Order: sequence, then C-alpha cells, then structure tokens
Amino acid sequence: MKIRSAEVIVSSPDRNFVTLKITTEEGITGLGDATLNGRELAVSAYLEHHVVPLLIGRDAHRIEDTWQFLYRGAYWRRGPVTMAAIAAVDVALWDIKAKAAGMPLYQLLGGASRTAVRAYGHASGRDVPEILDSVREHLELGYKSIRIQTAVPGINAVYGVAAQPTAGGVRYDYEPAQRAALPAEEDWDSRAYLRHIPTVFEAVRNEFGPELPLLHDGHHRLTPIQAARLGKSLEPYDLFWLEDCTPAENQDALRLVRQHTTTPLAIGEVFNTVWDYQTLIREQLIDYVRSAVTHTGGISAMKKILDYAAQYQIKSGIHGPTDISPVGMAAALHLDLAIHNFGIQEYMRHGDLTNEVFEQSFTFVDGYLHPGDQPGLGVELNLEAAASHPYEPAYLPFNRLKDGTIHDW
Ligand SMILES: [Mg+2]
Repeated sequence: MKIRSAEVIVSSPDRNFVTLKITTEEGITGLGDATLNGRELAVSAYLEHHVVPLLIGRDAHRIEDTWQFLYRGAYWRRGPVTMAAIAAVDVALWDIKAKAAGMPLYQLLGGASRTAVRAYGHASGRDVPEILDSVREHLELGYKSIRIQTAVPGINAVYGVAAQPTAGGVRYDYEPAQRAALPAEEDWDSRAYLRHIPTVFEAVRNEFGPELPLLHDGHHRLTPIQAARLGKSLEPYDLFWLEDCTPAENQDALRLVRQHTTTPLAIGEVFNTVWDYQTLIREQLIDYVRSAVTHTGGISAMKKILDYAAQYQIKSGIHGPTDISPVGMAAALHLDLAIHNFGIQEYMRHGDLTNEVFEQSFTFVDGYLHPGDQPGLGVELNLEAAASHPYEPAYLPFNRLKDGTIHDW
C-alpha cells in the first residue's frame, strides 16, 4: 500500500489549522493534525519541504518504521515543530490503516476499554457571579467536570478568562490566539493571584457542593514554592487537578511541589516526547499526562508515554483546546477509548466554520465523548470549505509584570 501523494492544507475557519492529507496508490486517504498555535507556518514548511518528499512511494502500512525514520533520520530530534510534523504523518497513517481494515481506529489500539470518554469544559469569569453563571452554562451543556479560571483584581487581562478584551470571545468561548500582526500584551502578579484564587474556589464549592470535579490551570507562571503554596491552599476544595503549576522545562521543580501538597498535579501540554516526562513519571511527581497527540509525535508516541505512565498509576488528561483540530481531537478520542489508564479529556468545542471544514463523526452526549464507529479516524476534510478560509496571522498573548519584565504567559 504505497503512498502516492501528501498534501499540506493550511486553513483558518475560526482559527488557523495545519492538516496533512496522505493518499495511497489505492486511493485511501488519511488525515493528520499539525497545528502549532501561533507558529503554524513553521510546521507547514517543515512538512512541505522536508517530510512530504520523503513519504512518496513508502509503504503506508509501516507506521512505526516511518515514525523512526522521521525521528532518527532527521538527526535533529524533538522540538514542537518536528514532533507536530511527525504526529501528522503518524495519525494520517493510522487513519489509512484503520480505513483499510474497515474498522474505527480504536479497534486497532486494542478495542474499547470504556463505553465513552469523560470530558471537562472551561468555565471562567471576571468575578464570582460571572464564574458561577459560566459553570451553570457548562452544566446545561452536559459537562460533568469543569475547569475554573478567574480574573484577578489588579490585573487587566489573564489567561483563561473568556469575557476580557484579549480573549476573542466572539469566535469561541475562549480563544487566546488573536488574529493580528503582533501578539497582545497581558499582565501578571503572582502574589495577587495566590491571594485571590482560593476565594474563588470557596465560592464555587459553596454554590455547587462537594461532588462536581473542578480543575484549574496555573499556566506555568509560578515558582516551585509558590506552586506548593497554591496546591496547599486549594486542598480544602478537593481539585481534580492543578495543571501546569510551574514552567514545564524543569522536571525537578515538581518534586518540591509534591512534597508540600496532596492536590493532584497535571502537566505536559508543551512537552514533545517521553523524555520530558522521564523524571516526572518514574518518581510519581504528577498524576496526569497532559500532552496533545498533535504535539507529541502522534498516536504511536502518545501510546508509549501513557503505557509508561500506567506502570506508576498515572493517568491521561490529553490536551484538547480549540487549537487542536477536529483531526487531532479524534486521534485523542480513539486513544482515550482504548487505553486502560484514561483519566479525563479536555474538550472546548470547535466553532461552526471549523465543523464545516472538518466533517466529524465524534459525538458529545451528556458530558461524554465518543469517536464514532466509521472506519479510520472518522474525520474528513472539506477541501472547498478549507480553501475559502485562508491563513491569517495570529499569535498567543504574552505577559509582563508591573515593572515591564516579561513573565511566563
Ligand atoms: Mg493548559
């Protein structure tokens, strides 16, 4: 089953997406997501110039061999651009193999380990009443687990809050990447954040009771000792997880956090390979693996990370914001359904234009996702619709402290 062609499609229905479409000589097609938020064209160029020419004529069935060829054969390993490109090829080849087998992809990964996949949504607000309303809206949509992000008094714009000027709430619930020539500037004050956040969780728990699983994303902005304090101060509110509490490059930082708090920890959305998790998993410094299939070398690599994590009772929490295309979401859902150590799946819901470009079979019913039972991934690309939404430059915001110093966003 030789690869006849491979095409990179960059489209911007509600936001920018990079999609790889591989076609075999038999005419079977497979899709892979290569979207890297704010750096999309770096991956499309990597694919077009350095990967697509190497794929033509290769056996589409040899997924592992192709993965190793692209990873080891480049000599220059890892990094978000390389690993997103490899992920797109890997997922497209899994899509093709499952279509050739006439099965939904999860069947090739061992079959379903559960009936459906629990999802969490993103509630946020500028103040407590707005947050409580946002939680109610998500409960009405069926969500059974909810992430809480809040504005902070004294800070003008903060990651994760939909109703603020830099959030672009028109296109989505919350979309931080702004269509503009330059990135938006937000501000930050860790001490103000640390003082405010427990008061918000107290209000949410008082309103909705003890059972609703609540999550929070620290977005890499704290030092280890600050993160330890945050985890401790949130213990009375029984979080499902505290995510990305410190910058993720330093795995050792999590050891200090872990020594001080029993709040479960999740990390990894900016990780690219299993090496980023080596210490975290082996020393059980985290509870959930947050990587995206799209940014971690695809289904093949993500399955290996999660199998490693399973030995240490660490579960999945696959990254699923709106910059993961429906192709990347479907890949995550097939994996979620098949693995034993599934934890939860992030799901923000795509906009109407995105759903026209990516025709999908996955469903969201009563808080649970299912990838559907069509052969392959269950997502097809409407090329005509994609062509009517050309790429538009868009960037994630960045942070400055009050004195002008750039801080982690
Ligand atoms: Mg996050």
